[in-house]
Amino acid sequence: MKIGIPGSLLYYYYYPFWQTLFEKLGNEVVLSDPTSGDLLNEGVKESVSEICVPMKVYVGQVLNLLEKGVDLIYIPRFVSIRKGITFCPKFLGLPDMIKNSLSAVKGRILTHEIRAKTDDISEYKNYVSFRDIFQVSRGELKKALDKARQNWLKFRSLQQEGYKTEKLLLGEKEKREEGFLKIGVLGYVYNLYDRFINMDFMERLEEMGAKIVTFEMLDGEIIDRFVRNLRKPMFWEFTNKLMAAGYHFINSEDIDGIIHITAFGCGPDSILGPFLEIDAGKKNKPFMTLRIDEQTGESHLITRIEAFLDLLRLKKRSDIA
Ligand code: SF4
Repeated sequence: MKIGIPGSLLYYYYYPFWQTLFEKLGNEVVLSDPTSGDLLNEGVKESVSEICVPMKVYVGQVLNLLEKGVDLIYIPRFVSIRKGITFCPKFLGLPDMIKNSLSAVKGRILTHEIRAKTDDISEYKNYVSFRDIFQVSRGELKKALDKARQNWLKFRSLQQEGYKTEKLLLGEKEKREEGFLKIGVLGYVYNLYDRFINMDFMERLEEMGAKIVTFEMLDGEIIDRFVRNLRKPMFWEFTNKLMAAGYHFINSEDIDGIIHITAFGCGPDSILGPFLEIDAGKKNKPFMTLRIDEQTGESHLITRIEAFLDLLRLKKRSDIA
């Protein structure tokens, strides 16, 4: 079977797992095209206008996979990967939203719930329905899940060693650049690595002499310890991850500044962002928010990054002098 995977949302976190799993179960994996103006426009036309831009991109990616003639489109429902914490409601309702917005996907969605205790989503119980769908035995499914887990763990450890996520997803290995400035970049993986939506933000930062650190590059224990110790964590898993990384960056002396890249219309970020900005201010850590939507202008983005980095360079030079 041809299984289509939309190249958006948690594709940037779990693709090595999904690719291995479906291939080991005897399928061909088809990825949607990278986001482009046309793809986004198609997604915008079929989405409710208030929804965040990553969801509009996702709808565009699904339409693109339909055009490619895949048999099934994989749209899992992420419920939880940490006890007591769930996902942004848009993730919880994702398969329903797609089903109800796009009549052409009828009968072509492959979905199931993912409930896990950690980021490791390989537990057999989540995939029992795959046995009938792919006509495989329990042993074959377990073996495929184990291989998928191994490949995903390898991907995660390369991320933590500083290899670029965007290259790893293409099967390439390239380390993040060193730079005079070290910037903590906070953002959901789909905002960080969708080069169209963020107008090549990561590449530009590096070209301007910044070394980038993101939440997935941190040791998982830093994130887990922070979330464990919160008196009242946020409801949403990846928002907690960003909060943990944010406070880690605020308290790290070697981080020169923080950039929070967020999507217009993101409810969780509208709570997270102000918390971090206020506390960064208290610690005298420069903090900038970049909000992206389908109309954000490129020159506006570049001007803001340049101005922020100029300020950080001046500050660093005067701190060193
Ligand atoms: S966390 Fe924000 S950007 Fe992500 S899906 Fe939810 S609303 Fe959209």
